[in-house]
Amino acid sequence: MSNLVLYRKYRPLNFAQVVNQEHIKTTLSNAVANNRVGHAYLFTGPRGVGKTTLARIFARAINCKNRKASEPCNECATCKPFLDGTSLDLLEIDAASHTGVENVRELIDHLQFSPTAATFKVIIIDEVHMLSKAAFNALLKTLEEPPAHAVFILATTEINKVPVTIISRTQRFDFKKVSIADLAKLLKFVAHDNKIEITDGALMEIAAAADGSFRDGLSLLDQVINYSDGKVTEEFVEQVFGLTGVVTLSQFLDLIIQNKTQEAVEFISKLSFGGRDLYQFEKDFLEYLRKVLLRKIGVAAEFGFTKDVEGNIKQQADSLTQVRLLEIIRIFQKAETEIKWATIQSLPLELAAVEATQEEEDLTTTASSSNEVVTTKQSIPTTDRHATAKLDADQTVARDGSSGLSVITNAWPQILEKIKDYNHSLVSSLKLAQPGGITGKELVLIFPYKFHADVIEARKNRIIVDQVIEEVTGLKLMVKPILQKDFNGTIEKKDELVESALKILGGEVEQ
Ligand SMILES: [Zn+2]
Repeated sequence: MSNLVLYRKYRPLNFAQVVNQEHIKTTLSNAVANNRVGHAYLFTGPRGVGKTTLARIFARAINCKNRKASEPCNECATCKPFLDGTSLDLLEIDAASHTGVENVRELIDHLQFSPTAATFKVIIIDEVHMLSKAAFNALLKTLEEPPAHAVFILATTEINKVPVTIISRTQRFDFKKVSIADLAKLLKFVAHDNKIEITDGALMEIAAAADGSFRDGLSLLDQVINYSDGKVTEEFVEQVFGLTGVVTLSQFLDLIIQNKTQEAVEFISKLSFGGRDLYQFEKDFLEYLRKVLLRKIGVAAEFGFTKDVEGNIKQQADSLTQVRLLEIIRIFQKAETEIKWATIQSLPLELAAVEATQEEEDLTTTASSSNEVVTTKQSIPTTDRHATAKLDADQTVARDGSSGLSVITNAWPQILEKIKDYNHSLVSSLKLAQPGGITGKELVLIFPYKFHADVIEARKNRIIVDQVIEEVTGLKLMVKPILQKDFNGTIEKKDELVESALKILGGEVEQ
């Protein structure tokens, strides 16, 4: 986002002006007030939520000659050069463009000298996760024995890429995304301050599009102002950014909930003919579904939408079972990856709409892409799957069945580990299972007990297992739970499948 005029103009200059991040503000300003300044801080969180802004306020506050309580005066001989960027005691580097060890060494050399005017030399390293390994090592040495006058503030959007050794030397602060409501409030203030006529709906659209980032919110507002010559409305904002408004998204979900296949597909055609960016629509719809899910599981109390919209979201959350909602989300998530590569851009969305509007009982979809649904339906018997799942000797074993099986077997511990992330209790059932073989696109899992087979048989669980298998091995397979006793029944046929299964089970042929 290049438009940063408003962002610069409205950047907070003291703790009080910072909206959101309350606990961080309080901790930092207490540290200032009590003169308990640490040597290293780590600010982590999404982009545009005020990490650098707070770092700079803190840098001025600990050095200000004229401090009031914990707030910097922004006028004195240390504050001014800190604000202008002319002080030798404030060093800011962007690790994204200064990744090398020599950059860090330069900083450390600079630290050997006492501050010129300030009490502390403050070093802000933005996007610190981008530093090279050697650079991190050099930094670590300094963090282990920092000069008394040194204060490091490290900022990152990707904490998982920062070495634990570094993290453990710092005081860590986790910055939150800004809520739509808070962001809309701030945007409203800025709009009024600039005498811009804008509706609440439009402010909400911009806040939602900014996805929790002040910087993006103000930059989007900037763009809207540049385009408009009059009152800014919700529709106008949607047009400028190619966004789909929350009302439209809500209507689409209603069609899905009511299983109105034809209308849902027509809805997409209309968007497509209207020149709407379908990929953007897809992303917006997923974000909307996420909100419905959060409401369903009772995580978020308010999204900052108007009462009508909030009411709709609640109603939709109430009318869907959690299983169905998760299913819809998965279907549209799948479409998101497909839409980028599709020759007919609307097709993945249309397929998703068809799939998502089937009656729940109809949905046997565990396929990993929408166009496989048809095959899935044919290959999975609708009657008791345990009874019919008995391995049939006539069933063709895929040519690469045994090599696929060894991939699965080798990766099995890893697959179980990963499934834990999704659903801890699933693993206890799966631990008793053994991969038995691959026929066509089905991976046979052999279970000693019906109870555990039934757990994996449940559609929502099968989907998780299928997904993780694909993530870990790259193989698109559908798990097919089968009971050991049924499986043993085919042993005398001694086909390739059974042999490889026996190898894993360490079993013998009982006759
Ligand atoms: Zn000052």
